[in-house]
Amino acid sequence: MQVTWAELASGAAEARDGQWVEIEGWCMPAGIEERPGYLILTDEPGCCGDCLPADPARRIEVFAAELIDRAGEEVRLAGRWRVLDRDSAGWRYQLYEARLIAAPRAAPHGFTRRGMLAAGGLFTLSSWMPVPALAADDAAKLAAAREAMGALTIDLHSHGGALVGRRRVPEGAPFVPLAEPMRQGGMAVICLTVVADSPVTEVTPDKRIKPVRDPAPGELYAFAEKSFARLEALVAAQKIGIVTDVAGLRAARAERPAAIVASEGADFLEGRIDRVDEAYARWKLRHLQLTHYRVNELGDIQTEPPVHGGLTDFGAEVIRRCNRLGIVVDVAHGTYDLVKRAAKVTTKPLVVSHSSFTPKPGARSRQISEEHARVVANTGGVIGIWPPASIFADLAGMAEGIARLADKIGVDFVGLGTDMMGLTGPSVLPSYRNLPELAAALMARGFGKEDLQKILGGNYRRVFEATIG
Ligand SMILES: [Zn+2]
Ligand SMILES: [Zn+2]
Repeated sequence: MQVTWAELASGAAEARDGQWVEIEGWCMPAGIEERPGYLILTDEPGCCGDCLPADPARRIEVFAAELIDRAGEEVRLAGRWRVLDRDSAGWRYQLYEARLIAAPRAAPHGFTRRGMLAAGGLFTLSSWMPVPALAADDAAKLAAAREAMGALTIDLHSHGGALVGRRRVPEGAPFVPLAEPMRQGGMAVICLTVVADSPVTEVTPDKRIKPVRDPAPGELYAFAEKSFARLEALVAAQKIGIVTDVAGLRAARAERPAAIVASEGADFLEGRIDRVDEAYARWKLRHLQLTHYRVNELGDIQTEPPVHGGLTDFGAEVIRRCNRLGIVVDVAHGTYDLVKRAAKVTTKPLVVSHSSFTPKPGARSRQISEEHARVVANTGGVIGIWPPASIFADLAGMAEGIARLADKIGVDFVGLGTDMMGLTGPSVLPSYRNLPELAAALMARGFGKEDLQKILGGNYRRVFEATIG
Protein backbone atom coordinates (compact mmCIF):
# COMPACT_ATOMS: atom_id res chain seq x y z
CA MET A 1 0.00 0.00 0.00
CA GLN A 2 1.47 3.32 -1.03
CA VAL A 3 2.10 6.20 1.35
CA THR A 4 2.23 9.70 -0.14
CA TRP A 5 4.07 12.79 1.07
CA ALA A 6 0.70 14.53 1.37
CA GLU A 7 -0.23 11.91 3.98
CA LEU A 8 2.98 12.67 5.85
CA ALA A 9 2.19 16.37 5.79
CA SER A 10 -1.41 15.88 6.97
CA GLY A 11 -0.44 13.35 9.62
CA ALA A 12 -2.57 10.64 7.97
CA ALA A 13 0.60 8.57 7.53
CA GLU A 14 0.73 8.09 11.29
CA ALA A 15 -2.09 5.56 11.01
CA ARG A 16 0.19 3.33 8.92
CA ASP A 17 2.58 2.64 11.81
CA GLY A 18 3.85 -0.93 11.58
CA GLN A 19 2.38 -1.59 8.14
CA TRP A 20 4.23 -2.73 5.04
CA VAL A 21 4.19 0.25 2.66
CA GLU A 22 5.68 1.66 -0.53
CA ILE A 23 6.82 5.25 -1.01
CA GLU A 24 8.45 7.28 -3.74
CA GLY A 25 11.04 9.92 -3.00
CA TRP A 26 14.56 11.17 -3.54
CA CYS A 27 17.66 9.63 -2.02
CA MET A 28 19.77 12.40 -0.49
CA PRO A 29 22.59 13.23 -2.89
CA ALA A 30 25.98 11.63 -2.75
CA GLY A 31 28.04 12.82 0.12
CA ILE A 32 25.52 11.77 2.73
CA GLU A 33 27.51 9.75 5.19
CA GLU A 34 25.88 6.49 5.93
CA ARG A 35 26.18 3.16 7.53
CA PRO A 36 25.38 0.20 5.30
CA GLY A 37 21.74 0.35 4.39
CA TYR A 38 21.22 3.79 5.91
CA LEU A 39 19.81 6.51 3.73
CA ILE A 40 17.52 9.50 3.83
CA LEU A 41 14.53 9.82 1.53
CA THR A 42 13.14 13.31 0.85
CA ASP A 43 10.09 14.65 -0.93
CA GLU A 44 12.10 16.76 -3.37
CA PRO A 45 15.45 16.34 -5.05
CA GLY A 46 18.27 17.59 -2.87
CA CYS A 47 20.77 19.91 -4.49
CA CYS A 48 23.58 20.03 -1.97
CA GLY A 49 24.64 19.32 1.58
CA ASP A 50 22.15 21.95 2.73
CA CYS A 51 19.08 20.19 1.47
CA LEU A 52 17.95 18.01 4.36
CA PRO A 53 14.53 19.50 5.06
CA ALA A 54 13.98 20.73 8.59
CA ASP A 55 10.33 19.64 8.45
CA PRO A 56 10.19 16.00 9.66
CA ALA A 57 7.21 15.39 7.36
CA ARG A 58 9.46 15.96 4.37
CA ARG A 59 12.11 13.35 5.15
CA ILE A 60 12.23 9.70 6.10
CA GLU A 61 15.07 7.86 7.79
CA VAL A 62 15.53 4.58 5.93
CA PHE A 63 17.17 1.40 7.19
CA ALA A 64 17.49 -0.81 4.13
CA ALA A 65 17.73 -4.56 3.90
CA GLU A 66 20.20 -4.20 1.04
CA LEU A 67 22.64 -1.65 -0.31
CA ILE A 68 20.63 1.04 -2.10
CA ASP A 69 23.23 2.85 -4.13
CA ARG A 70 21.00 5.57 -5.60
CA ALA A 71 22.19 8.83 -4.07
CA GLY A 72 20.62 11.80 -5.84
CA GLU A 73 18.03 9.66 -7.64
CA GLU A 74 14.29 9.28 -7.41
CA VAL A 75 13.33 5.82 -6.19
CA ARG A 76 10.41 3.75 -5.02
CA LEU A 77 11.00 1.83 -1.81
CA ALA A 78 9.05 -0.82 0.04
CA GLY A 79 9.48 -1.39 3.75
CA ARG A 80 7.97 -1.44 7.20
CA TRP A 81 6.60 1.96 8.26
CA ARG A 82 7.42 3.32 11.66
CA VAL A 83 6.13 6.48 13.30
CA LEU A 84 8.22 8.04 16.06
CA ASP A 85 6.97 10.10 18.94
CA ARG A 86 9.27 12.84 20.24
CA ASP A 87 12.45 11.36 18.74
CA SER A 88 15.48 13.11 20.25
CA ALA A 89 17.21 13.35 16.86
CA GLY A 90 14.20 15.02 15.30
CA TRP A 91 12.87 12.23 13.09
CA ARG A 92 9.15 11.50 12.69
CA TYR A 93 9.05 8.71 10.09
CA GLN A 94 11.24 5.71 9.42
CA LEU A 95 11.22 2.85 6.94
CA TYR A 96 12.70 -0.48 8.04
CA GLU A 97 13.78 -3.53 6.02
CA ALA A 98 13.52 -1.31 2.95
CA ARG A 99 14.10 -2.59 -0.55
CA LEU A 100 14.33 -0.82 -3.85
CA ILE A 101 11.39 -1.38 -6.18
CA ALA A 102 13.10 0.08 -9.27
CA ALA A 103 12.31 3.71 -10.00
CA PRO A 104 8.99 5.50 -10.44
CA ARG A 105 8.12 7.03 -13.81
CA ALA A 106 11.68 6.26 -14.69
CA ALA A 107 13.61 7.27 -17.72
CA PRO A 108 15.71 4.33 -18.92
CA HIS A 109 18.83 5.80 -17.33
CA GLY A 110 17.08 5.59 -13.99
CA PHE A 111 17.66 1.86 -14.04
CA THR A 112 21.00 0.32 -13.42
CA ARG A 113 22.65 -1.98 -15.86
CA ARG A 114 22.45 -4.62 -13.14
CA GLY A 115 18.70 -4.14 -13.01
CA MET A 116 18.43 -4.45 -16.74
CA LEU A 117 20.44 -7.65 -16.71
CA ALA A 118 18.49 -9.03 -13.80
CA ALA A 119 15.34 -8.50 -15.78
CA GLY A 120 16.70 -10.97 -18.31
CA GLY A 121 15.85 -8.79 -21.27
CA LEU A 122 12.14 -8.90 -20.47
CA PHE A 123 12.41 -5.53 -18.86
CA THR A 124 9.78 -2.92 -19.64
CA LEU A 125 9.39 0.54 -18.18
CA SER A 126 6.05 -0.27 -16.66
CA SER A 127 7.27 -3.27 -14.70
CA TRP A 128 8.71 -2.99 -11.20
CA MET A 129 11.83 -5.04 -11.11
CA PRO A 130 13.72 -5.49 -7.85
CA VAL A 131 17.38 -4.63 -8.27
CA PRO A 132 19.76 -7.19 -6.78
CA ALA A 133 22.31 -6.13 -4.19
CA LEU A 134 25.78 -5.19 -5.41
CA ALA A 135 27.97 -8.08 -6.42
CA ALA A 136 30.46 -8.86 -3.67
CA ASP A 137 33.69 -7.00 -4.25
CA ASP A 138 36.98 -8.77 -4.29
CA ALA A 139 37.26 -8.90 -0.52
CA ALA A 140 40.88 -9.98 -0.45
CA LYS A 141 41.98 -7.12 -2.68
CA LEU A 142 40.10 -4.60 -0.58
CA ALA A 143 41.54 -6.04 2.63
CA ALA A 144 45.05 -5.74 1.18
CA ALA A 145 44.39 -2.16 0.12
CA ARG A 146 43.03 -1.29 3.54
CA GLU A 147 46.13 -2.77 5.16
CA ALA A 148 48.40 -0.86 2.77
CA MET A 149 46.70 2.50 3.56
CA GLY A 150 48.41 2.54 6.94
CA ALA A 151 46.98 3.76 10.21
CA LEU A 152 47.16 7.54 9.83
CA THR A 153 44.77 8.33 7.00
CA ILE A 154 43.72 11.99 6.72
CA ASP A 155 41.00 13.77 4.77
CA LEU A 156 42.00 17.38 4.07
CA HIS A 157 38.42 18.62 3.67
CA SER A 158 35.16 17.26 5.07
CA HIS A 159 31.70 18.46 6.09
CA GLY A 160 30.66 14.95 7.15
CA GLY A 161 27.89 14.27 9.65
CA ALA A 162 25.61 16.91 8.03
CA LEU A 163 27.68 19.59 9.78
CA VAL A 164 27.07 22.54 7.49
CA GLY A 165 24.23 24.27 5.71
CA ARG A 166 22.52 27.62 5.64
CA ARG A 167 19.41 26.11 7.21
CA ARG A 168 20.88 23.16 9.09
CA VAL A 169 23.08 25.30 11.31
CA PRO A 170 20.42 27.70 12.66
CA GLU A 171 17.75 24.99 12.78
CA GLY A 172 19.99 22.44 14.48
CA ALA A 173 19.10 19.75 11.91
CA PRO A 174 19.83 16.13 12.85
CA PHE A 175 23.33 14.75 12.29
CA VAL A 176 23.98 11.68 10.19
CA PRO A 177 26.54 8.96 11.02
CA LEU A 178 30.16 10.09 10.66
CA ALA A 179 32.36 8.18 13.12
CA GLU A 180 30.95 4.81 12.10
CA PRO A 181 31.73 5.09 8.35
CA MET A 182 35.19 6.45 9.28
CA ARG A 183 35.85 3.36 11.37
CA GLN A 184 34.50 1.07 8.70
CA GLY A 185 36.49 2.64 5.87
CA GLY A 186 39.70 3.16 7.83
CA MET A 187 39.69 6.98 7.89
CA ALA A 188 41.52 8.16 11.02
CA VAL A 189 41.43 11.97 10.84
CA ILE A 190 39.33 14.48 8.96
CA CYS A 191 39.67 18.22 8.67
CA LEU A 192 36.10 18.83 9.83
CA THR A 193 35.12 22.06 8.21
CA VAL A 194 32.49 24.69 9.00
CA VAL A 195 31.47 26.99 6.16
CA ALA A 196 31.81 30.71 6.84
CA ASP A 197 29.74 32.33 4.10
CA SER A 198 26.66 30.05 3.82
CA PRO A 199 24.12 32.75 4.84
CA VAL A 200 25.00 34.90 1.83
CA THR A 201 25.44 32.29 -0.90
CA GLU A 202 22.99 30.24 -2.94
CA VAL A 203 23.14 27.29 -5.30
CA THR A 204 22.11 28.31 -8.82
CA PRO A 205 20.06 25.99 -11.07
CA ASP A 206 23.28 24.94 -12.85
CA LYS A 207 24.70 23.94 -9.43
CA ARG A 208 27.19 26.75 -9.02
CA ILE A 209 27.43 28.50 -5.69
CA LYS A 210 27.23 32.28 -5.87
CA PRO A 211 27.15 35.11 -3.33
CA VAL A 212 23.74 36.81 -3.43
CA ARG A 213 24.10 39.70 -1.00
CA ASP A 214 26.47 41.41 1.41
CA PRO A 215 26.39 40.15 4.99
CA ALA A 216 25.12 42.45 7.74
CA PRO A 217 27.80 43.52 10.26
CA GLY A 218 28.28 40.72 12.78
CA GLU A 219 26.15 38.28 10.78
CA LEU A 220 28.93 35.93 9.66
CA TYR A 221 30.64 36.06 13.04
CA ALA A 222 27.38 34.98 14.69
CA PHE A 223 26.91 32.25 12.09
CA ALA A 224 30.44 30.96 12.72
CA GLU A 225 29.79 30.80 16.46
CA LYS A 226 26.74 28.63 15.79
CA SER A 227 28.69 26.54 13.27
CA PHE A 228 31.64 25.84 15.58
CA ALA A 229 29.23 25.02 18.41
CA ARG A 230 27.46 22.58 16.07
CA LEU A 231 30.83 21.01 15.26
CA GLU A 232 31.49 20.52 18.96
CA ALA A 233 28.07 18.92 19.39
CA LEU A 234 28.69 16.59 16.44
CA VAL A 235 32.05 15.31 17.65
CA ALA A 236 30.74 14.93 21.19
CA ALA A 237 27.68 12.99 20.01
CA GLN A 238 29.75 10.58 17.93
CA LYS A 239 32.80 10.37 20.23
CA ILE A 240 35.19 11.84 17.69
CA GLY A 241 38.35 13.31 19.21
CA ILE A 242 39.62 16.79 18.38
CA VAL A 243 43.25 17.05 17.32
CA THR A 244 44.96 20.20 18.56
CA ASP A 245 48.61 19.19 18.48
CA VAL A 246 51.11 16.86 16.84
CA ALA A 247 50.87 14.20 19.56
CA GLY A 248 47.13 14.10 19.08
CA LEU A 249 47.50 13.67 15.34
CA ARG A 250 50.03 10.87 15.68
CA ALA A 251 47.80 9.03 18.13
CA ALA A 252 44.71 9.08 15.91
CA ARG A 253 43.49 5.80 14.46
CA ALA A 254 40.41 4.85 12.50
CA GLU A 255 39.19 2.79 15.48
CA ARG A 256 38.94 6.05 17.43
CA PRO A 257 38.50 8.66 14.71
CA ALA A 258 39.50 12.28 15.19
CA ALA A 259 38.90 15.67 13.65
CA ILE A 260 40.96 18.80 13.06
CA VAL A 261 38.73 21.88 13.42
CA ALA A 262 38.71 23.78 10.14
CA SER A 263 36.83 26.64 8.52
CA GLU A 264 36.09 27.11 4.83
CA GLY A 265 36.37 30.88 4.55
CA ALA A 266 37.73 33.38 7.06
CA ASP A 267 34.69 35.62 6.62
CA PHE A 268 33.88 35.47 10.33
CA LEU A 269 36.99 37.56 11.04
CA GLU A 270 35.16 40.53 9.47
CA GLY A 271 38.53 42.18 9.07
CA ARG A 272 39.56 41.75 12.74
CA ILE A 273 42.90 39.99 13.20
CA ASP A 274 42.32 39.25 16.91
CA ARG A 275 39.54 36.88 15.91
CA VAL A 276 42.17 34.47 14.54
CA ASP A 277 43.51 34.14 18.09
CA GLU A 278 39.99 33.84 19.43
CA ALA A 279 39.09 31.00 17.03
CA TYR A 280 42.35 29.22 17.86
CA ALA A 281 41.69 29.32 21.60
CA ARG A 282 37.91 29.15 21.80
CA TRP A 283 37.10 26.72 18.98
CA LYS A 284 40.45 24.91 18.65
CA LEU A 285 40.75 26.05 15.04
CA ARG A 286 43.85 24.51 13.46
CA HIS A 287 43.11 24.77 9.72
CA LEU A 288 41.84 27.93 8.04
CA GLN A 289 40.84 28.27 4.39
CA LEU A 290 41.14 31.95 3.60
CA THR A 291 38.35 32.34 1.06
CA HIS A 292 35.25 30.50 -0.20
CA TYR A 293 32.41 31.60 -2.51
CA ARG A 294 32.30 35.23 -1.43
CA VAL A 295 35.07 37.70 -2.24
CA ASN A 296 35.93 38.53 1.35
CA GLU A 297 38.38 40.81 3.15
CA LEU A 298 41.28 38.40 2.52
CA GLY A 299 41.33 38.09 -1.24
CA ASP A 300 40.02 36.92 -4.61
CA ILE A 301 38.31 33.64 -5.42
CA GLN A 302 38.37 31.35 -8.42
CA THR A 303 34.62 31.53 -9.06
CA GLU A 304 34.11 35.33 -9.19
CA PRO A 305 35.90 38.11 -11.11
CA PRO A 306 38.97 39.33 -9.18
CA VAL A 307 38.63 42.61 -7.30
CA HIS A 308 41.72 42.68 -5.07
CA GLY A 309 44.41 41.50 -7.48
CA GLY A 310 44.90 38.37 -5.33
CA LEU A 311 45.64 38.34 -1.60
CA THR A 312 44.87 41.54 0.34
CA ASP A 313 47.14 43.07 2.98
CA PHE A 314 44.71 41.80 5.60
CA GLY A 315 44.94 38.31 4.03
CA ALA A 316 48.72 38.51 4.37
CA GLU A 317 48.36 39.57 8.01
CA VAL A 318 46.08 36.59 8.66
CA ILE A 319 48.63 34.20 7.14
CA ARG A 320 51.39 35.60 9.39
CA ARG A 321 49.14 35.23 12.43
CA CYS A 322 48.26 31.62 11.46
CA ASN A 323 51.97 30.85 11.00
CA ARG A 324 52.70 32.21 14.45
CA LEU A 325 49.81 30.54 16.29
CA GLY A 326 50.02 27.18 14.50
CA ILE A 327 47.08 27.10 12.10
CA VAL A 328 47.38 25.39 8.72
CA VAL A 329 46.75 27.92 5.91
CA ASP A 330 44.49 26.60 3.15
CA VAL A 331 44.32 28.53 -0.13
CA ALA A 332 41.62 26.40 -1.80
CA HIS A 333 39.11 28.54 -3.75
CA GLY A 334 41.75 31.33 -3.97
CA THR A 335 42.94 32.66 -7.34
CA TYR A 336 46.38 31.88 -8.71
CA ASP A 337 47.36 35.48 -7.90
CA LEU A 338 46.21 34.99 -4.30
CA VAL A 339 48.23 31.79 -4.01
CA LYS A 340 51.37 33.39 -5.43
CA ARG A 341 51.34 36.20 -2.87
CA ALA A 342 50.39 33.78 -0.08
CA ALA A 343 53.43 31.67 -0.95
CA LYS A 344 55.67 34.74 -0.64
CA VAL A 345 54.18 35.70 2.73
CA THR A 346 53.95 32.34 4.48
CA THR A 347 56.78 30.76 6.45
CA LYS A 348 54.89 27.45 6.66
CA PRO A 349 53.60 25.06 3.97
CA LEU A 350 50.36 25.97 2.20
CA VAL A 351 47.47 23.60 1.51
CA VAL A 352 44.93 23.48 -1.31
CA SER A 353 42.57 21.13 0.45
CA HIS A 354 40.19 20.21 -2.39
CA SER A 355 40.74 20.73 -6.09
CA SER A 356 42.25 18.86 -9.01
CA PHE A 357 44.75 19.36 -11.76
CA THR A 358 43.85 20.27 -15.32
CA PRO A 359 46.29 21.54 -17.96
CA LYS A 360 44.23 24.66 -18.75
CA PRO A 361 41.59 25.56 -16.15
CA GLY A 362 38.67 27.43 -17.70
CA ALA A 363 37.44 30.79 -16.44
CA ARG A 364 35.94 30.50 -12.94
CA SER A 365 37.05 26.86 -12.68
CA ARG A 366 37.79 25.32 -9.29
CA GLN A 367 40.54 23.20 -10.85
CA ILE A 368 44.16 24.32 -10.89
CA SER A 369 47.03 24.41 -13.38
CA GLU A 370 50.43 22.79 -12.97
CA GLU A 371 52.03 26.19 -12.21
CA HIS A 372 49.40 26.87 -9.52
CA ALA A 373 50.04 23.45 -7.97
CA ARG A 374 53.78 23.95 -8.16
CA VAL A 375 53.62 27.21 -6.18
CA VAL A 376 51.92 25.27 -3.36
CA ALA A 377 54.35 22.35 -3.63
CA ASN A 378 57.30 24.75 -3.41
CA THR A 379 56.15 25.79 0.07
CA GLY A 380 56.32 22.11 1.07
CA GLY A 381 52.54 21.97 0.95
CA VAL A 382 49.92 19.55 -0.29
CA ILE A 383 47.03 19.57 -2.75
CA GLY A 384 43.99 17.47 -1.88
CA ILE A 385 42.37 15.82 -4.91
CA TRP A 386 38.63 16.06 -4.81
CA PRO A 387 35.97 13.57 -6.04
CA PRO A 388 33.08 15.31 -7.87
CA ALA A 389 31.51 12.94 -10.41
CA SER A 390 31.49 15.91 -12.78
CA ILE A 391 35.30 15.60 -12.90
CA PHE A 392 35.94 11.86 -12.45
CA ALA A 393 33.74 9.04 -13.76
CA ASP A 394 34.67 6.66 -10.95
CA LEU A 395 37.36 5.88 -8.38
CA ALA A 396 39.72 4.60 -11.09
CA GLY A 397 39.37 8.01 -12.76
CA MET A 398 40.05 9.74 -9.47
CA ALA A 399 43.15 7.57 -8.94
CA GLU A 400 44.26 8.60 -12.42
CA GLY A 401 43.69 12.27 -11.49
CA ILE A 402 45.86 11.82 -8.40
CA ALA A 403 48.55 10.13 -10.49
CA ARG A 404 48.52 12.90 -13.10
CA LEU A 405 49.22 15.56 -10.50
CA ALA A 406 51.79 13.37 -8.73
CA ASP A 407 53.54 12.90 -12.08
CA LYS A 408 53.73 16.68 -12.51
CA ILE A 409 54.76 17.89 -9.06
CA GLY A 410 55.77 14.77 -7.13
CA VAL A 411 53.94 12.31 -4.92
CA ASP A 412 55.02 14.19 -1.80
CA PHE A 413 52.62 17.03 -2.55
CA VAL A 414 49.34 15.25 -3.28
CA GLY A 415 46.60 14.30 -0.83
CA LEU A 416 42.88 13.58 -0.51
CA GLY A 417 40.13 16.16 0.07
CA THR A 418 36.73 14.45 -0.08
CA ASP A 419 34.48 17.50 0.52
CA MET A 420 32.21 14.93 2.21
CA MET A 421 28.64 16.30 2.30
CA GLY A 422 29.75 19.54 0.69
CA LEU A 423 29.41 18.80 -3.00
CA THR A 424 26.46 20.14 -4.96
CA GLY A 425 26.38 17.00 -7.13
CA PRO A 426 27.28 13.32 -6.92
CA SER A 427 30.68 12.19 -5.63
CA VAL A 428 32.73 9.18 -6.72
CA LEU A 429 33.73 8.85 -3.04
CA PRO A 430 30.34 9.30 -1.34
CA SER A 431 31.25 7.63 1.95
CA TYR A 432 34.36 6.92 4.01
CA ARG A 433 33.39 3.29 3.61
CA ASN A 434 34.65 3.64 0.02
CA LEU A 435 38.19 4.59 1.10
CA PRO A 436 39.68 1.08 0.65
CA GLU A 437 38.25 1.06 -2.88
CA LEU A 438 40.13 4.27 -3.63
CA ALA A 439 43.28 2.74 -2.13
CA ALA A 440 42.82 -0.33 -4.33
CA ALA A 441 42.37 1.90 -7.39
CA LEU A 442 45.59 3.78 -6.52
CA MET A 443 47.46 0.49 -6.15
CA ALA A 444 46.05 -0.69 -9.47
CA ARG A 445 47.38 2.56 -10.95
CA GLY A 446 50.87 1.61 -9.76
CA PHE A 447 51.33 3.35 -6.42
CA GLY A 448 53.26 1.29 -3.88
CA LYS A 449 52.50 1.18 -0.19
CA GLU A 450 54.83 4.03 0.74
CA ASP A 451 53.36 6.41 -1.84
CA LEU A 452 49.84 5.35 -0.94
CA GLN A 453 50.46 6.26 2.70
CA LYS A 454 51.86 9.65 1.71
CA ILE A 455 48.81 10.46 -0.42
CA LEU A 456 46.25 9.23 2.09
CA GLY A 457 47.74 11.01 5.11
CA GLY A 458 51.52 11.30 5.33
CA ASN A 459 51.81 14.46 3.24
CA TYR A 460 49.25 16.37 5.28
CA ARG A 461 50.82 15.07 8.46
CA ARG A 462 54.11 16.66 7.34
CA VAL A 463 52.35 20.01 6.78
CA PHE A 464 50.54 19.82 10.11
CA GLU A 465 53.75 18.99 11.98
CA ALA A 466 55.64 21.82 10.27
CA THR A 467 52.84 24.25 11.12
CA ILE A 468 51.72 23.21 14.59
CA GLY A 469 55.02 21.64 15.70
ZN1 LIG B 1 35.06 24.20 -1.28
ZN1 LIG C 1 33.77 22.32 1.23
